[in-house]
Parts: sequence; C-alpha cells; structure tokens
Amino acid sequence: MLGATARYESEHKAARIRRKLAENAAAGKPHGGHRPYGWEPDRLTVRESEAAVIREAASRVLAGEPLRSIFRDLNSRGLHNATGKPWTHPTFRNVLLHARHAGLREHNGQEIGVAAWPAIVPPETWRAVRRVLNSPDRVTTPGRGGRLHLLSGIAVCGVCGAPLRVGHSKSTEAYRCMASGCLSRHRERLEEYVEAVVIARLSRPDAASLLAPEDDGGERERAAQAAERVRQRLDEAAASFAAGVITARQLATITGQLRPELAALEAAAAPPPDRASVLGELVSSEDVAQAWDNLSPDARRTVVRLLMEIKVSRGRRGPGFSTDGIEIIWR
Ligand SMILES: [Zn+2]
Repeated sequence: MLGATARYESEHKAARIRRKLAENAAAGKPHGGHRPYGWEPDRLTVRESEAAVIREAASRVLAGEPLRSIFRDLNSRGLHNATGKPWTHPTFRNVLLHARHAGLREHNGQEIGVAAWPAIVPPETWRAVRRVLNSPDRVTTPGRGGRLHLLSGIAVCGVCGAPLRVGHSKSTEAYRCMASGCLSRHRERLEEYVEAVVIARLSRPDAASLLAPEDDGGERERAAQAAERVRQRLDEAAASFAAGVITARQLATITGQLRPELAALEAAAAPPPDRASVLGELVSSEDVAQAWDNLSPDARRTVVRLLMEIKVSRGRRGPGFSTDGIEIIWR
C-alpha cells in the first residue's frame, strides 16, 4: 500500500515537473539548471567570448572538420566548457546540437518556436550543423591504426557511388568500394595524385578566387523561406490536432509527408562553408606544398572536401598506377 502511494506521489511529481517544463517551453522561457555554455547565468544574455567559440565551431563543422579535431584544438588553446573542464566528444557535441544557440525553443527534440533570447548562430546554420552531426554517413572514427586516411569517405566509387575506404589487399593498402567491391586503388598513389592536384590548384596565381563565397543566385534564401513555410504548416497541423479538428492518424500522415520535404529544404538552405577560413592560410602561403605538409591530417581532409568531388572508376589493366578513371570535379 505504502509502495503504491509512494509510486503515485512520484509519478504525480514527475508529471508536474513535465507540465512545468512544457509551460516554460511554450512561453519561450528558459529551464532552470546549470549555466549553458555561451550564456550568462540568467540564461538570456550572450557570453560573447563563448559565443565566438560556438560560431567558430559551427563554421568548422560545416567545412567538414571532425568534432574531435575541433575540440582538441579548443582544449589546447585553453578554451574549456562551461564548468571550466576540457571538452569531451559528448559534451562538445551536445553544445553544438543545442537549439538555444539559434534562438529557438525545443521540447522533446522538436522545435517549438522562437525563444525569448537572441541567437548566437543563424537558425539555418544551426540546422545545417545538426544535419551534419546527425548524418549516418559521417566518418568520425579513425580506422585501424587510429588514423583516418586522406580520402576515406570523401572519394566515391565511380561505379556505384558508395564512399571508398581503405582496406588491405595482400601486402598493400588500397581504397576500396566497401559497399559492392567494384574496385580498389593503391592508397598511397591515389593520395599522392590528389595532393599534387590540390597543391597545383592552390599555387596558381588566381587561387585567391577560391576564397570568394559562391554566388547561388538566391537559391539558399528561397529554400530557407520555403522551409519556414513548411514549419508553419507543421505547427498548424499540430494545433489542429490539439484542437480536435484532425485525428492522430491524419496528423501522422501530414507530418510524414512534410518532414522529408522540410529536411530537403533545410539541406538546400544550409550556408556554405567559410572558404576563407579553410583555405586562407594555404592560398596566402609562399610555398603551398610546404604549407600543405604542415597541416594536420584532419585539416587536409577538410581542404580536399571543400575543393573537390573525387570519383574513382576502374583504371586500365596492367602494372603501375594510372590516373585513368579518376575524375576530379571542382566545387
Ligand atoms: Zn562501388
């Protein structure tokens, strides 16, 4: 009897807390708790020194840099988390996934409207970061030997389109189509070839033109507006359900149609990576080859990903390495 009463009490309490949080969420008010990174203890005022770190991290994620590379760099610069401790993968990832930085309210993982506090990063940027961090294709873990190869998950199979990864064949390492086994290419030779192409491109007198953001003719802006309209339709559907105008099944049908549409529009609205921050040092260097050598492996991958798509098909038969079938498409 006592157990049941206690359970009733605790369930009752949990429900009350949930209701309170939902009310706060609906009113755009912050929850209590620890000071979130990027914010003063009032949870409404931006702490500019930390906001700058969030913006930098977002820009580096969108340029394709892995989280561990970013937070290790921050740790080495003495830039720690809200409690003054060094960043770890989960704490850093959580900060970047937090809707509050985009000036948005979130409840149970759903965006529920604009918050009472300002945005540190634009909502489109934050959504793009979230998409990157939640992408199942994202290569974040190094392979055997603890290193991530230059082109793993970046170069794709020219036959089936699957990303290539490094595997061992006999005694040599090779990039292989892991999905269907369409082909394999000598790891070192392929990397040397791509590196030579990158260095040659960045050494050209017109290399500075690579730093300019691409002009998309307003396509991103249009996608962002269309995404906003879809979000409104989702809100309206939820409101109709809450008011008893439509059934749960009708709501599920509507959201089932609109969610993929919204995801595609958010992808199209994603801001481009900051090319100057990725390429600036290389382009302005007297000796691009030397500057390339000085980059960390992660930074090299970021540069390759930003500059080009690489499709690898079967090469010609016979001994030696040929560049036949290696297609480089400049972005
Ligand atoms: Zn393939």
